[in-house]
Amino acid sequence: MRLSRFEISNNFKFQKPKSKAESSKTNVPTDRYSRQILFNGIGKEGQRRLLEARAVIIGCGALGSAQAEALARAGVGRLRIMDRDFVEASNLQRQTMFTERDAAERLPKAIAATQHISQINSEVCTEAEIADVNHSNIERLIDQCDVVLDGTDNFATRYLINDACVKHDVNWIYGGAVGAYGVSMTIRPGVTACLRCVFAEAPPAGSAPTCDTAGVIMPIISVVAAIQVSEALKLLTGRLDQLHNSLMQIDVWRNEWRTINPGSPSPECSTCGLRRFETLEPATGEFAAILCGRDAVQIAPTQPTKVDFAELADRLAGAGEVNFNDYLLRFRAGAYELTVFQDARSIIRGTDEITTARSLYAKYIGN
Ligand SMILES: [Zn+2]
Repeated sequence: MRLSRFEISNNFKFQKPKSKAESSKTNVPTDRYSRQILFNGIGKEGQRRLLEARAVIIGCGALGSAQAEALARAGVGRLRIMDRDFVEASNLQRQTMFTERDAAERLPKAIAATQHISQINSEVCTEAEIADVNHSNIERLIDQCDVVLDGTDNFATRYLINDACVKHDVNWIYGGAVGAYGVSMTIRPGVTACLRCVFAEAPPAGSAPTCDTAGVIMPIISVVAAIQVSEALKLLTGRLDQLHNSLMQIDVWRNEWRTINPGSPSPECSTCGLRRFETLEPATGEFAAILCGRDAVQIAPTQPTKVDFAELADRLAGAGEVNFNDYLLRFRAGAYELTVFQDARSIIRGTDEITTARSLYAKYIGN
C-alpha cells in the first residue's frame, strides 16, 4: 500500500447540525454513559450534547490517539481523524491506541485509529483521512465541526490550524509534548488570545527539540491529552465557565505545573486582530519539491534561518548517524538521509514522496 498522495474525498462533510426539535429526540443510552451522566458537570443534557457533537483531530500520533480514544469512550458522536503517517514499532511506547499488529501491517494511523474506535464504541461515527494537512484542505477539514484538537508535532501546522479556526470561528485546543514537558491552551476566536497572540512566530527551524531528538515519555502525553479532552468536553457541553483560560505548562519529571494568563485577543495580532490568514495562502507555505530521478525531495522552510550545526548534530546524535562541515549537515536514519543546509533547506534522500519528506523534516529538524 502506498501511504502518501492521498486526497481528501470530495464527499467529505459533516452533516448539518440538528435542529432543536430533532435534537430533543436524540436517544441517550443511560447505561453505557451512566457514570458520566452522574457527574454533575455533564448530566443527561451534557451527554445528549456530546452524542451530537462533531470533533476533528488533526494528527493521530501520541496525543491524537489518546484524544480519539477518550472522545470515543465519552460518546462524542462524530470524530474526523486526520494523519499523514503510518504506525511503526517505535510509536508503541506512547501511542496507546496502536498495537504490534498495526505496526507489522504499517497501517495508516488514521485507519488503525478508526478501526480500534469501532471496537471501543461502535455508535461513534468516524471518518479517517490519510493526508498531509495544508492550506488546500484545512478549511474543508474543519467545516461544520464543533471543536478541533491539536495532535500535531510541528508549529507550521499549528499556525495553519490557528488561521483556519480564527477565520471560521471554530474553537481549537492546542497541545504539545516533548521529553517530560507539555503545554496546552484553548483558543476561542474573538474571546481568548489566539496562538499567534501568544507566539507571534514559530521557533526557527532546527532550534527547538522534537520528540525524535529529545525523546518523550508516555505520562506527559496522557496529561496533555487529558487536559485537551477535558477542555473539549467542557466546550461541547457548554460549560464554558469551567475552561482553564490559561497557557498551561507541565513537567512531570521536574514536578512543575504552572499556568500563564495569555490575555485577551490582541488588536495587533496579524491573525485575530488584523485577520490576515497567511498560512491559508498557497504562496506562503513551506516549499517542497520532488527532485526528479534522485529519489529525493527538497523542503525549504518559509522563513530561512541560520542553523547551528553543532547544536543540531548534538540533538540528532541519539537518533542516527550524523556529521557536518561548514556548509551542510548530513544525518542518516534507517533508509533515509537528510542533508541540511545553513538556511534550514533540506534534501531528504530515500523517498520521492513529499508527504514522507515533510514528515521526516518535522521529526528531525522541527519547525
Ligand atoms: Zn491572535
